[in-house]
Amino acid sequence: MERLTNKVALVTGAAGGIGQAMIERLAQEGARIVAVDIDTGFVADTTARVSALGRQIETLQADVSQQADIDRMIQHTVGTMGRLDILMNNAGVIRFQELLDISAEDWDFVCNVNLKGAFFMLQAAARQMIAQGDGGKIVNTASVSGKRPEPMFVHYGVSKAGVISMTKSAAESLGSHGINVNAVCPGSTVTNMHLTVTHALAERQGISLDDMIAQREASIPTGRRNEPADIAAMAAFLASDDAKNITGQAYNVDGGQVMIA
Ligand code: NAD
Repeated sequence: MERLTNKVALVTGAAGGIGQAMIERLAQEGARIVAVDIDTGFVADTTARVSALGRQIETLQADVSQQADIDRMIQHTVGTMGRLDILMNNAGVIRFQELLDISAEDWDFVCNVNLKGAFFMLQAAARQMIAQGDGGKIVNTASVSGKRPEPMFVHYGVSKAGVISMTKSAAESLGSHGINVNAVCPGSTVTNMHLTVTHALAERQGISLDDMIAQREASIPTGRRNEPADIAAMAAFLASDDAKNITGQAYNVDGGQVMIA
């Protein structure tokens, strides 16, 4: 399926598990890619696979929590690709900490990337799309953690609840410009971030990592954690014209783990 032929997609968090899967899926669907991460020691394999598909890909090291870097991302995208059609607003961080242990520095670290960074990325992308005058698609990576209590990472949960709220407000503000704004809310997805959290949970419960994973999977109706490609499939749909009349929504992709809309 090639729903995104010649569309230009900017993907943040591109070195992570979900970001890499997004890049590959969007490229398979015909998009040209700008891959951004704070740590670009990464994307050689992904870049090679995308190039092998005959799609253009640019990589850029930048920090979504810094406005100057956000401006540089948009300039680089327009400079190399000529325009911006799709933002995958996906970079994120987590710290596994009990409520009483969270410092102001911890709070700022998580919220500056996940919420403030995501907001100013969205704002910058929307300005560029409005200037182009023919709409666009913004997909925010939130989390099921934004919809339920998260006592072991309240700052992370708050940041993702904020992303869901931002998605709805931005959908209203940008709808008249033809810009659709939606969020994908992953449940447990097999990436480095998930491994870090699963390790910490296993340690806390005094059980092995394998037992922790089995416990987690037993709580999922489909019996499996997400692969990053599961998230990428939803993101590609939301970035396509198949979703042209969908905006302001936050879809769980979680095997039915959290049945909260
Ligand atoms: P990951 O740790 O593999 O990838 C996150 C990427 O974001 C990393 O490559 C990291 O370098 C990058 N990043 C971090 N801070 C950045 C910054 N300031 N600027 C630019 N890039 C930065 O984790 P992932 O699971 O692929 O996470 C992708 C998104 O999915 C995140 O927003 C995360 O919160 C969300 N999510 C993940 C899960 C899960 O179970 N893995 C569940 C729900 C939501």
